[in-house]
Amino acid sequence: MEKIDRLEMKAISKLFHGIHANQNINLSVESGEIVGLLGENGAGKTTLMNILYGLYQPDSGQIKINGKNVRINNPVESIRSGIGMVHQHFMLVQNHSVIENIALSYKNTPFFFPKIKIRKKVEQFSKKFDFHIDPDKKIWQLSAGEQQRVEIIKALLNGADLLILDEPTSVLTPQEIKDLISILRQLKAKGHMIIFISHKLDEIMEICDRVIVLQKGKIVGSSNTKDTDKKSLARMMVGRDIVFNTLKEKLSKGKKTLSVENINVPGDKGLLALKNISFELFKNEIFGIAGVSGNGQRELAEAITGIRPISSGKVKVNGKDITNKSARHIYDNGVSHVPEERIRFGIAPGLFLYDNAILKQHHLKKFSKGYFLKYRRIKNHAKTIINKFKVSTHSINNQTRNLSGGNIQKLILGRGVSEQPQLLVASHPTYGLDVGATEFLRNHLLELRKQGSAVLLFSEDLEEIFELCDRVAVIFEGEFMAILDSDDKRFSDIGLMMAGSKRI
Ligand code: ATP
Repeated sequence: MEKIDRLEMKAISKLFHGIHANQNINLSVESGEIVGLLGENGAGKTTLMNILYGLYQPDSGQIKINGKNVRINNPVESIRSGIGMVHQHFMLVQNHSVIENIALSYKNTPFFFPKIKIRKKVEQFSKKFDFHIDPDKKIWQLSAGEQQRVEIIKALLNGADLLILDEPTSVLTPQEIKDLISILRQLKAKGHMIIFISHKLDEIMEICDRVIVLQKGKIVGSSNTKDTDKKSLARMMVGRDIVFNTLKEKLSKGKKTLSVENINVPGDKGLLALKNISFELFKNEIFGIAGVSGNGQRELAEAITGIRPISSGKVKVNGKDITNKSARHIYDNGVSHVPEERIRFGIAPGLFLYDNAILKQHHLKKFSKGYFLKYRRIKNHAKTIINKFKVSTHSINNQTRNLSGGNIQKLILGRGVSEQPQLLVASHPTYGLDVGATEFLRNHLLELRKQGSAVLLFSEDLEEIFELCDRVAVIFEGEFMAILDSDDKRFSDIGLMMAGSKRI
């Protein structure tokens, strides 16, 4: 197989139900270059990369490798041509080891002693790129960053000269992002080419040589990163200026909405994931939980919203004991939940958009009567969410699986926050959202706070935490390291506390 020195996509177009997902797109990338692909949710980034990876066929246009036309009919042909893709959601078998997963996709898996030979290869690659990965660990034992490294090794072992990374940092911790950036720099130095899709403009500016901006399926701008800045990129993307630092109004807190009293909560493996956690949350307040993922955040959100049993302690909402009550009961008592893995657990992909707009709310009187659903109401409700949250779709009669990843996020968020809940439990609400939608969502959370909701916000994005929260708890290994007011000078120590090295 010839090494790829230059890859070009020429005049690529793709239509879905009469909508141009890609229109006349030209993109090129050369050996040793990192190109950023930017654009609002639904702009057509994933579609373009799926065409390059052979998952879709373009309606028109050509792909050229080293000047020669190629036809990529499926991912196997794409891998054979030297293209590798690391998807947003990893494609790994959780119960298999690293080696077994690599063997599954490796194009040259030997018949005799496959494990020994693949182990050797993995060790060689780990050494060459500083990967630090234990080949015998099962996938479920690995952090998101480690799983991503397995995906990268899989692609490199199959001879990828071009690596496509679709929002690679959205599931990573700040330290893992640093590690990934250093791996990408090494790949670049060794002559690989990378296409990097991200909504995080700081990362694009740090890692990419060039950036291409898509809007509604068309290229609306491109630039060398050294000749542009974050503000101009955002303007190119959404066609207006973005306010990166949301200003929160000073409000005095209202009456107590949530009280969590000494709760202990078991994790998936039977050990305690939360140890003796206590805090209170008031009306007109946003309370942040900062921490590296996997330190008990998911368990805390699930325990409060009735998805995970609490072994001891109490949770009260507006003075009413809701400990170990059902999720429906807790929802009916004013608690709304935007879950962490919302694309997996938050929608039914085969249902229409209007069905998903009332998922978990269908029993409410306004949406049903006896066994019958009130479809006109439901459809109007779906239209309101779509307009308010700018979900880009041609119709509410669209199957939800046809929406772009970011637009599914917007739909689920819209459903969770549009009802003015008394308590909103929001896990990583801006994950997967473009800069415009992030700005909107942050303002919306502040608006809910102003109107009297209490918000429990889980985020690894310290910038987001600093901007939005009135108080912040830092969680480490299932315990609170501290609870701080937003004007507390020790805010600068949060990073250290997240690593468990400081307790106040
Ligand atoms: P995001 O940042 O939200 O991931 P994106 O830029 O990757 O967005 P795409 O997923 O490429 O956007 O979607 C572009 C457009 O094509 C959207 O309007 C989407 O609804 C539509 N689309 C994508 N895949 C399909 C499909 N299989 N069937 C119908 N429409 C589709």
